[in-house]
Amino acid sequence: MHTIFSGIQPSGTLTIGNYLGAIQHFIELQKENDCYFCIVDEHAITVPQDRLKLRNNIRSLAALYLASGINPEKSTLFIQSEVPAHTQLGWMLQSISYIGELERMTQFKDKAAKSAGKEAVSSALLTYPPLMASDILLYKTDVVPVGEDQKQHLELTRNLAERFNNKFNDIFTIPEVRIPEVGARIMSLQDPTKKMSKSDENEKAFISMLDEPKKIEKKIKSAVTDSDGIVTFDAENKPGISNLLTIHSSCSGESIENLETAFAGKGYGEFKQATAKAVIDILKPIQERYNELINSEKLDEILDKGADNASFEANKVLKKAKKAMGLGRVK
Ligand code: ATP
Ligand code: MG
Repeated sequence: MHTIFSGIQPSGTLTIGNYLGAIQHFIELQKENDCYFCIVDEHAITVPQDRLKLRNNIRSLAALYLASGINPEKSTLFIQSEVPAHTQLGWMLQSISYIGELERMTQFKDKAAKSAGKEAVSSALLTYPPLMASDILLYKTDVVPVGEDQKQHLELTRNLAERFNNKFNDIFTIPEVRIPEVGARIMSLQDPTKKMSKSDENEKAFISMLDEPKKIEKKIKSAVTDSDGIVTFDAENKPGISNLLTIHSSCSGESIENLETAFAGKGYGEFKQATAKAVIDILKPIQERYNELINSEKLDEILDKGADNASFEANKVLKKAKKAMGLGRVK
């Protein structure tokens, strides 16, 4: 039995990439582990957000976690900003983080490059990783299941935990990263050399978990591929088709080899249609459960209970960390 923590930003509606790279694995993990699933809204505001959209995205994400199979009786589902210990420890960890190491983070470089000039980049975008470290360390997390894109942040979390333990007191558990073998990196449908992201400005680049079947068909049909017409996996030379093969295989459970054989001699049109069907089949029951939950009181009850439980655990670790650093008074 391990303690598992994972967070997702309410920065848009979850994509099939988030599902295959993250949520799907959480469902398995919760069976035998003590899991914390967090809606990291304080991470989302590191880039500009519309107030009402953010509120909606937070609720929608909570409902999607549950609709996908997160069991609130087994796991703790909560909203980051409802547990103040996260920003408190985040600040303390910022004080042992170096600007140089934070500036080296790929996500910071990518997101900062997208904004117009340094004036438009928030300082929170730079100090996001110590807050993420705090999220993880507050629950004595052993394992963090994430997609490939978060590996670097996890490495930094481990460094910060070790740095703190060496400098002050041995308080933090050093977390392990766990990256799934399949689905770890679903690529954009419009630029298959770039990862699929829910905050992508181009809606055609991602499949949202709440997209209607028609929309899914349309997006997959217009996915960028190559012109040689052969359905084979070759991530380097055929990134578009390879990405669709990964999506198809992860959704249907068919191996990539079997799919290559099944679609040998057939065109991309037919393959894309079958891929769309595999995606629709997996999303349909989730969407039905989502519609039942989204406006229910039950959703609020689950989130209230989650915040209480998370606060209780997080405050214990926060108290130890404050004491180790010499903050406040001895009581
Ligand atoms: P944003 O564009 O706002 O950063 P995102 O789609 O990258 O959104 P995150 O909230 O950053 O989503 O990440 C949530 C989880 O989904 C993380 O575990 C991350 O590793 C995983 N993930 C994100 N994108 C992908 C992807 N394209 N393929 C597989 N896993 C992914
Ligand atoms: Mg991301």
